[in-house]
Parts: sequence; C-alpha cells; structure tokens
Amino acid sequence: MKLITIVGARPQFIKAAAVSRAIARHNHRHPERPLREIIVHSGQHHDANMSEVFFQEMEIPRPDHTLGIHTLGHGAMTGRMLESLETLLRNERPDAVLVYGDTNTTLAGALAAVKLHIPVAHVEAGLRSFNRAMPEEINRILTDHCATWLFCPTPTAVENLTREGVPQRPEVFIQHCGDVMFDTIRHFAPKAEGAAIRHRQGLAAGYWLCTLHRAELTDDPNRLRQVFATLQELAREHPLILPLHPRTRQAMERLGIDPHSPGIRITPPVGYLEMLDLLKHAGLVLTDSGGLQKEAFFMGKGCVTLREETEWTELVSAGCNLLAGFSPDALRQAVMTMAGRRVDPTTLTIFGQGESSDRIVATLTAWNASQSVNQKVYKPHAIA
Ligand code: UDP
Repeated sequence: MKLITIVGARPQFIKAAAVSRAIARHNHRHPERPLREIIVHSGQHHDANMSEVFFQEMEIPRPDHTLGIHTLGHGAMTGRMLESLETLLRNERPDAVLVYGDTNTTLAGALAAVKLHIPVAHVEAGLRSFNRAMPEEINRILTDHCATWLFCPTPTAVENLTREGVPQRPEVFIQHCGDVMFDTIRHFAPKAEGAAIRHRQGLAAGYWLCTLHRAELTDDPNRLRQVFATLQELAREHPLILPLHPRTRQAMERLGIDPHSPGIRITPPVGYLEMLDLLKHAGLVLTDSGGLQKEAFFMGKGCVTLREETEWTELVSAGCNLLAGFSPDALRQAVMTMAGRRVDPTTLTIFGQGESSDRIVATLTAWNASQSVNQKVYKPHAIA
C-alpha cells in the first residue's frame, strides 16, 4: 500500500510521529504486505524550532517532498498548497492520503486528494468547538466531509459526525480509535526527563506552564493586552514559564507589549522532549492549545484553558480542565480553583492505551487488502 502523509504544522508532526512508528511496526510484522509512507511537508511551520526539531528528536522519517508554502493569508496559503498537492498526488498516485487535525495543510491535502478520487484518512476527525469564527473549525468540518476514514479520538467526536450526517455517506468508515497524542506521550515521556533543564533552572517545581497562540487571542489587541496583564499580575505571586509562539511574539511586538516581566520566564518555542520535561515539573497549565489541554491531563496536571469553548469537552466534564475565557476575573478564579486540584490520568480511558496509531494502520491496511472501500460500513467501536 502506498500512503501519502501530508503534514505542515507542529501538532501534526507530533501526531504523525506516532503513526509513522506504527507503520514501521506493521512493516516489521508483515513484510509480505508492506505499507510505504511518503511524507509531504507543506512548509506551513518552517522555523527550526517549530519543525526541524520534531523530525530530529521524534525520529520522524525525513519528508520526501517539501512545498515551502508559508507566511500567507488563509486563502493564498490553502490555494497554493492545493495546487502543489494536486500535481504531487497526480505524479505519486497513492492508494490513500493521510491528514491530521485542522490546519490549512489538512484542508488543502484533503481537498486535493478527494478531487482526484484518492480516499482521505483524517486523524482527529469529528472534533468541534462550534465556533465557526475559528479557522480551525472550518478546516475540520470540510476535511471530515471529504474523508473516507474518520479516526476519532473521543466518543464525542463520533457523536458530532453522526449529528452532521457523515455516517450516511456510503463509503465512510468512522472509528473511535483513541488519541495518537497519547501514543506519542507514552513513547517519549520516559526519554524527556531533564530535557528542559536550561529553561527551568533556578525555578522550583510547581511553576505554571503557559502557551498562547490562537488567532482569537493574537488577532484581538485588547484581549491580548488584557490577558497578558493578568498573567503579569498572577506571575508576581507564582512563577510562570511561557514558551512564546512566533505568532504571539509578533502580535506582542506589534502592540509594543514587552513579554519580559517579573515572574515570567520567556523561552522560544521548545522541542517536544523539552515540553514534556517542562510539563512534568509544572504545577498547572494555562493554555489555548488543543494538544496541551490533553497532555496536561495525560501528565496528571490541572489545566486552565484560555478560550470560550473547547473540543475536549470530556476533560472539562471530568473536572481536569477549566474553561476560563479571557476576562481577568474569570482567569484569576480559574487559576485559584485548578491550582489545588488533583488530576488522575487514569480516570478517563477514552484516549486509548497507547495503541491508537496501530488501530489506524490496521484499518488502512485491512482496507487495502480488501480493496473494497464501497463495502465499508459505519461501525465505530468502543475502546475496551
Ligand atoms: N509544543 C511544543 N513546544 C512548544 C509548545 C507546544 O512542543 O513550545 C507541543 C505541545 O506539547 C503539543 C503541541 O505542541 O504537543 C501543541 O501544538 P500547538 O499548541 O501549536 O497546536 P494545537 O494543539 O493547539 O493545535
């Protein structure tokens, strides 16, 4: 089977790392029916600390093709990727295309493939914030409606797809397979101890770890000013580490906000192992990142989410994640509530046991063996 994996942004490298390892395992176990993976990097994230570091330390196979498309508006970026990917897919003629998450790269990959009648597999299908102002929400909905295989990380994701009528498409296969980010963290957490020592040196364990990068914050000057002022206030009482995303750094520079403040330790974006090490020694996570909300839970840390809604509603219901929104009062209150809360990562089993990527590879290779995608039926199965 020939599979083209299309990635381009940091969280996609982290998810693809798990599936690439599962492909290697499959090829080792079943040399008689190998799966050949061709990796395409769109270039959406291109700085060394947003891209290269993940390929290196997570041993992701080098991209076979790099498109170098970045630093453009949504329309231009998606359009150029679509055009380049169409040519590439015509030349490579894969059996299937694999896309991850909710970025412009995801949408361009899914659209390019489906228009050439190449079946699309979507990892992290079915997630919804129900906020259509988010570019990610549009990308996810459209990708799900192009995809043949919808690999859902949670039961809620399956329900969302059902509500949208996705299972009624005859060729569709929806699977609650768990979360590939859990596979990744399980594999790498034991290797991460000490990786971020240079960033946390001199800080006692229990500092708060913060990341911010969503457009709903960085594109709203008043909101960004207000949130940062609240973080500065909180950091006078409790130290905080903030690996600064390039988009947030640029927005702050434009607004003349100096990120360096007492109690706040600013770092450049860190590698994945550094992130896991920072997380392990943190007392609380404050974030607007989708991935980090889950990783906080996986590592037994409370999380305050600086958004009005989240796709990971199970974590909120379980009391492990508190949606604070952006107002100073709500943020202060949420931090006080979550700072003392114990989080037990064994309380929720919906994310699987670290075998989600093996399930994905098994589904794709079984389909390839049967080559009868039209007979695939809607059959989500629960995780034991
Ligand atoms: N991450 C990282 N270094 C950082 C910040 C985040 O390795 O400086 C990792 C984080 O641990 C998670 C992923 O990047 O695995 C989340 O990516 P991001 O927040 O950019 O995107 P989202 O998850 O919101 O789509």
